[in-house]
Amino acid sequence: MTLHDSVQVRATGLPGEVLTPGQDGYDEAATTLFAAGTPEVVIRPRDAAEVAAALRHAARAGLTPSVRSGGHSMAGLSTHTDGMIIDLVRISQIEVADRASRQVRIGAGATWGAVAAVLQPHGLGLTAGDTRDVGVGGLTLGGGIGWLVRRYGLAIDSLIGADLVTAAGQLLHVDADHHGELFWALRGGGGNFGVVVSFDFIAQPVTSVHYGAIGYHPGDLPQLIGDWRDLMRAGDENLTTTLALTPPMFGQPASATLMCCYAGPGGDAAARALGPFRQLGAVTSDDIRAMLYAEVLEDAGRRPGGLRIETRNTLVADLGNEFIGAIETLFGGRRTALALRSLGGAVARVPADATAFAHRDAEVMLVATMVLPADATPEQAGEALARWAPLAAHGSGAYVNFLGSASEADVAAVYPPATYRRLAAVKRAYDPGNVFRRNHNIRPGQG
Ligand code: FAD
Repeated sequence: MTLHDSVQVRATGLPGEVLTPGQDGYDEAATTLFAAGTPEVVIRPRDAAEVAAALRHAARAGLTPSVRSGGHSMAGLSTHTDGMIIDLVRISQIEVADRASRQVRIGAGATWGAVAAVLQPHGLGLTAGDTRDVGVGGLTLGGGIGWLVRRYGLAIDSLIGADLVTAAGQLLHVDADHHGELFWALRGGGGNFGVVVSFDFIAQPVTSVHYGAIGYHPGDLPQLIGDWRDLMRAGDENLTTTLALTPPMFGQPASATLMCCYAGPGGDAAARALGPFRQLGAVTSDDIRAMLYAEVLEDAGRRPGGLRIETRNTLVADLGNEFIGAIETLFGGRRTALALRSLGGAVARVPADATAFAHRDAEVMLVATMVLPADATPEQAGEALARWAPLAAHGSGAYVNFLGSASEADVAAVYPPATYRRLAAVKRAYDPGNVFRRNHNIRPGQG
């Protein structure tokens, strides 16, 4: 029997769409935005029963499952060099279950672009992310930070329930009254507890927003960042902004751009909220305009070839001047693009222990995107990461979804000790064998 034959046998009996090495579509299915894999089998279940069958099969065949919704894991966790990929792309229904209460039910494999397009004609939208093709599953389970975050909070703050298949193949409906601890853990604890097949959210009444970018001359960076911070601290919660700082790269000069999304009442209120930001530094461009929220989300595009991208982030409770100085130093080191995403507002009003996303006091998330050659040596990568380390040390923790690595130190940065202990207790109850370990892993531990 050849290796190919033995893989076929190990995949035999699986329901739904099944892809094994050598089949048409396998290579594409094995590859995600950030990683190329060589799984033994990719399965695309069509419902919870098929997910349960896939998990039972994986257990019998000794295949480690990796769960994929939209495939955008920056740490490449939704593909694998062996094992089974459970790709939820066929479970992507989007349904307005009750317009009056704005309740919507969304399959985990849907993308946020599809969600925005379906909800928009109903006058609805969901606080989620900024990118069309990111999956509902991964983004929601990590928290979800997007263009409505200051007005409506994280994606998980609108979540009221979920349907999940456990490691033992059991389908559970989870909400505040059913498996309450598991519901707490799903809101920030990632894919540690089972395969979520669908999410129930309360959507927001959102149609059009004011969205666009203000460009500044990137001269005095500490002044610009400090002034932006002061305005955001005092500013209207309807306004969420991201200050993107790009060093000179690929023949382009350095740039400082403020992406803005204002989701409050239109007319004068929008102009009043945005006005002070139009006087920050030397403005070089301004294209903010009213548009549908569904049109705001952008395409992720493909990863540029020949490059290796390392993404890290830190959440900052107090963006003080010392921290700003460290940002300037990192930026001067070149080849690291930075984004300061404003938080606060509705995020901060949720108690830190209400969900597994514990860093409610962060006023800013700093995301660093380090651009390295694809064949960067470990020394080159280590050097770039060493430049980032002092900033990470200054921060108060990390956001799981903007991490290109999944080390124990990363997990510790994401989950403070009390949060981790509580997550581990949930893990012991629902996945004691740590079947779901291709993630920022919570170990079941001893109790
Ligand atoms: P996947 O790679 O499919 O999943 C990631 C991980 O989540 C999996 O490894 C698995 O452990 C778990 N998982 C996924 N689905 C399930 C499920 N149904 N059941 C159980 N476990 C599951 N994040 C933000 O908050 N805001 C943004 O604006 C934002 N923008 C982004 C833009 C780009 C271009 C990229 C690449 C990422 C962005 N992210 C953003 C980060 C994003 O939230 C994470 O990458 C997230 O994991 C992507 O979800 P996914 O379903 O596409 O990923």
